[in-house]
Amino acid sequence: MQQTKKESELSIMKGKTAVVTGSTSGIGLACARAFAGAGANIVLNGIGAPADVEKTRTAIENDFGVKAIYTPANMAEPIEIASMISLAERTFGRVDVLVNNAGIQHVSPIEDFPVEKWDAVIAINLSSAFHTIRAVTPGMKQRGWGRIINTASAHSLVASPFKSAYVAAKHGIAGLTKTVALELAQSRITCNCISPGYVWTPLVEKQIPETMKARNMSEHQVIKDVLLAAQPTKQFVTVEQIASLALFLCSDDAAQITGANLPVDGGWTAA
Ligand code: NAD
Repeated sequence: MQQTKKESELSIMKGKTAVVTGSTSGIGLACARAFAGAGANIVLNGIGAPADVEKTRTAIENDFGVKAIYTPANMAEPIEIASMISLAERTFGRVDVLVNNAGIQHVSPIEDFPVEKWDAVIAINLSSAFHTIRAVTPGMKQRGWGRIINTASAHSLVASPFKSAYVAAKHGIAGLTKTVALELAQSRITCNCISPGYVWTPLVEKQIPETMKARNMSEHQVIKDVLLAAQPTKQFVTVEQIASLALFLCSDDAAQITGANLPVDGGWTAA
């Protein structure tokens, strides 16, 4: 009995196709690998050295026995986004799961915030999700099933200074999530966002030595007093914890979860 349950859990996405934007590293890659582990074919996307991306792609195929393709489509470019979705549909015949995850950050006081950085953050972190969602919705509606998951942030719920574009984009994606959920509520398509606090990704890891130097702090102080200052558990979220929630949202048990903004932030937004 136990074995049967495990097998069915492992194959909940068998025959399905998942497009994960920004999946060459961090949270997106963990989601892609979790979905592949549950049997889905994968469309990888993001920036990366061709050899590294190819290694990531073949590892998914070899580890999980699914098909994985990669597209370098720039999430700031609507035409490239449309091409990515049509490539996915041409290759696999369907897009069942869409994770809008690609994201960038820029930190600056509002009066100095470069206009081109504002435009890039809004385009990649928010508008790209509008373009992908409108492209996948007709196919999902036709098949009568779909899962749309947006990687938002604790910054979709609360603000921090100097992150105007990021906070605006993440609040925006929370609103887009609710609107799409309502529009698709009777089509067996759910749309939710996951809002991580500080997640241990290569991006965060790389900031530590620089911050130690700039602030004359030990590694422990940087982690506790700078990075995790807002996070009551004083622990990082892991990419696997985010991916597990994303996988759960793809299950039938999550069919009635839609329009939700689910924080995974060690208590940050409870404070
Ligand atoms: P990451 O840098 O490891 O991943 C970002 C991904 O987006 C990479 O694959 C990158 O290549 C891709 N990307 C960037 N610009 C792109 C573009 N123009 N077109 C296509 N792909 C592009 O960082 P991460 O921490 O895994 O971030 C993933 C998402 O999680 C982002 O939306 C981020 O805002 C969100 N997030 C991260 C944290 C954190 O603490 N790490 C916290 C909250 C939310």
